[in-house]
Amino acid sequence: MAETAIIIGAGPAGLTAAFELLQRTGVVPIVLEVEDYVGGISRTANYKGNRIDIGGHRFFSKSDRVMEWWLDRMPMQRVQAGQATIGYQRKSRDVATTGQGPDPEQCDEVMLVRQRKSRIYFLRRFFDYPITLSLDTIRKLGLLRMVKIGFSYLRAVLFPVRPEKNLEEFFINRFGRELYHTFFKSYTEKVWGEQCSVISAEWGAQRIKGLSILGTLKHIFSKIFRRRGDITQKNTETSLIEQFLYPKYGPGQMWETVAREIERRGGQIVHHQRVSKIHLDRERIVAVEAVDPRSGQTTVYRGDWFFSTMPVKELVRALDAEVPAEVRQVSEGLIYRDFITVGLLLKELKVREDSKQGQQLIRDNWIYIQEPDVVVGRLQIFNNWSPFMVSDRSKVWVGLEYFCYETDNLWKMSDQELIELGSREMEKIGIIERSAVLDATVIRMPKTYPAYFGTYDRFDKVRRFMDRFSNIFLLGRNGMHRYNNQDHSMLTAMVAVDNIVAGVRDKSNLWDVNTEQDYHEAKDPQQGSGKATKPL
Ligand SMILES: Cc1cc2nc3c(=O)[nH]c(=O)nc-3n(C[C@H](O)[C@H](O)[C@H](O)COP(=O)(O)OP(=O)(O)OC[C@H]3O[C@@H](n4cnc5c(N)ncnc54)[C@H](O)[C@@H]3O)c2cc1C
Repeated sequence: MAETAIIIGAGPAGLTAAFELLQRTGVVPIVLEVEDYVGGISRTANYKGNRIDIGGHRFFSKSDRVMEWWLDRMPMQRVQAGQATIGYQRKSRDVATTGQGPDPEQCDEVMLVRQRKSRIYFLRRFFDYPITLSLDTIRKLGLLRMVKIGFSYLRAVLFPVRPEKNLEEFFINRFGRELYHTFFKSYTEKVWGEQCSVISAEWGAQRIKGLSILGTLKHIFSKIFRRRGDITQKNTETSLIEQFLYPKYGPGQMWETVAREIERRGGQIVHHQRVSKIHLDRERIVAVEAVDPRSGQTTVYRGDWFFSTMPVKELVRALDAEVPAEVRQVSEGLIYRDFITVGLLLKELKVREDSKQGQQLIRDNWIYIQEPDVVVGRLQIFNNWSPFMVSDRSKVWVGLEYFCYETDNLWKMSDQELIELGSREMEKIGIIERSAVLDATVIRMPKTYPAYFGTYDRFDKVRRFMDRFSNIFLLGRNGMHRYNNQDHSMLTAMVAVDNIVAGVRDKSNLWDVNTEQDYHEAKDPQQGSGKATKPL
């Protein structure tokens, strides 16, 4: 009899685990997913042919293993002559993909190569992200503010805050107080719903570690001399990555493709199954119980191996075992931030960009809304992620992103109220005219950000307790309560399967993903471990 693996969650980590098991072992995977879609946070929602990517998912990784894996599932688009600076050199094939590959106008299964552009919107104006000290910036900020920025930066360089305890001090040490107040404070506090002074500096170290004024200047110079032709941009601080891959129809397309392949190879994906109980026999998991939320019917799934990508807090609650009080207390104290996207279909934006062909749609993929008089935190322009995300390319399809808790009034507002709020706020800050709104929808996504506050500083208690159970692997983002992007989430799954294949019992190599030396863009011994994975 073949062994069975029960995998909780059909997001990137769960699907990668299933795929790898089918590819490299005789273990048969059964993926249990509570929703009716696959992809988890990396899914693509489809509203009347207009697609929403929750948060905007750039596909890039410093791991060749992940880059190869993605491109094996979906090839890179053909790049036209003159644009041939962007081929990822595939290790296994030893050929540049440049000049080959499908044409996205003709073929659906294709990864587009996209140019990153993101700016900060503040004082009703756009500022480059990362911030450039250009004449344009000086003009927009005004001379007085620039002088203040200069002096406060100098002060931070001469008298840095030591030890650096919280995120506010982290920002001030790298940018000075004035620049922190201008470009970072409002947006970061919208994301977390907390003052930067109560958020651990570790979060900064994890997310934006290599970013600083000096780092930005170095990047501008190195760009002039950089070797062309490598989309992994291995030596580039991740916040400054300029090109990325993107499935033609958004990130969910990758995961739908992978799900089909899993089923074709004999794996199962069972939807509407919420795992709510986990049965043990001493140090081994023997079965899970899943409830169908539509009917309330319970099904028991027995297995030899278990992979969990469900939030750790819910996993510990589901254990049918004696959980030490301290472990339970830490796991109950874990905090998650939730996320709302209001999709607006627009005739046009009020803000436009000059080009040789006249005024056109601005080119940003996303814009940080630093304005403190609105609640919206970020604006996605889906046309610029992929033109195929929009059913009618003459229209503009945007996502207004709100960060909140499930207990907040914002989360509980009706869709219509959220659409009203979004349209009003966009008009208030001068991005749209309300009369330009043609259609709208709302997507709520719980538990998008595992928080590095609450009881997170004692998370090792939960980790050590769970690591005792030999046949379960905690994977992914909420599964490990770690700020993992898709690549890290996938790598945890790959390493778990490596361990099964090699008979390795110790799970520390899973927890090392996203803290490995290879992932440190700027090696700063003062900052501890962690990797900058994306700008804020
Ligand atoms: C705003 C934002 C922007 C991001 N941008 C990027 C980016 O640019 N690039 C990038 O690579 N990554 C990005 N990410 C990260 C990426 O979304 C995650 O790394 C990835 O989706 C995590 O995969 P996962 O499988 O661990 O978890 P998830 O995607 O959370 O999937 C878990 C799955 O488990 C299911 N589930 C949960 N509980 C149960 C249960 N009890 N029973 C059954 N099923 C259950 C869920 O429904 C879900 O489908 C971003 C994330 C956010 C929030």
